[in-house]
Amino acid sequence: MSEPFTPEAESYWQLVPARTKEVVLTNVWCRQCQGRTTMIQVSGEMVAGDLLLTGICNRCGAKVARLAEGA
Ligand SMILES: [Zn+2]
Repeated sequence: MSEPFTPEAESYWQLVPARTKEVVLTNVWCRQCQGRTTMIQVSGEMVAGDLLLTGICNRCGAKVARLAEGA
């Protein structure tokens, strides 16, 4: 894993089960595609106690983001 996660985000992300990670990363809303997409080139940071994942849509390249809530 070479994603640019902050150390805090990395620790949080490591505790997320692999299946949940996959669900989180493949169910990202893209405004440009008007649908769910997969986030690639993922980076992560902690925002107010939640892990915020940001990356780009693998279909159109638009910036996408989501919280890893419930993880
Ligand atoms: Zn898109």
